[in-house]
Amino acid sequence: MLNSDPIEIDKFSALANKWWDPNSEFKPLHDINPLRLDFIDQHAGLAGKNVLDVGCGGGILSESMAQRGAQVTGIDLAEKSLKIARLHLLESGAQVNYQLIAVETLAEQQPASFDVITCMEMLEHVPDPASVVHACATLVKPGGWVFFSTLNRNTKSFLYAIVGAEYLLNLLPRGTHSYAKFITPAELARHAREFGLDTQYLSGMSYNPIRKHYALGTNTDVNYLMACRRNA
Ligand code: SAH
Repeated sequence: MLNSDPIEIDKFSALANKWWDPNSEFKPLHDINPLRLDFIDQHAGLAGKNVLDVGCGGGILSESMAQRGAQVTGIDLAEKSLKIARLHLLESGAQVNYQLIAVETLAEQQPASFDVITCMEMLEHVPDPASVVHACATLVKPGGWVFFSTLNRNTKSFLYAIVGAEYLLNLLPRGTHSYAKFITPAELARHAREFGLDTQYLSGMSYNPIRKHYALGTNTDVNYLMACRRNA
């Protein structure tokens, strides 16, 4: 059984031709990309690293990591998104190896083979997020880094990420996120620890709707990024 929800995959496939339109439904991902890219690069040093981007979509993060000198593999289960990601390489000249494969399957084939793994805005779309954390922990080399980003679960995140972003500000299509799938940083850190990943840094990411501006900071109430390291 694939740890994948066909409704989620269809949702992203239906929008696939918009991945590289910075004013589309994917605008928030374009807007936050420089912030998360710097966070990853600062902690893990991307140049020369073998990187896996799990749930890469159209490749917004994958390409930017390749442009920082990493050797990047991007995986997703939405074929249309991968097609767009590959086409975009022709335009950008970046090099990324895109593959349609489940992270759990790749973990069986290539354990301990990546220096850095990124899994951004993806855990809240899968039926069993712990299984993805487990696969990432298996795929990373001892001493390597795994970065997750997702949505916290509390009253404020419900109000901001669903009511605010989907209904009031129309930043995201309605139905993009489901509250029950949100994950608290403590839950994510616990799963990570179970599979041999130690949480090193936790950063919040917040949106100011007046300034239309995203920033990293200490407030992890809604969006957050977590940097973990595999025991050496
Ligand atoms: N990580 C990218 C895209 C986030 S959108 C970024 O932050 O820019 C969520 C992505 O997760 C979509 O591309 C969707 O197709 C993918 N996804 C959802 N369920 C998945 C699964 N079970 N396995 C792999 N990818 C999945």
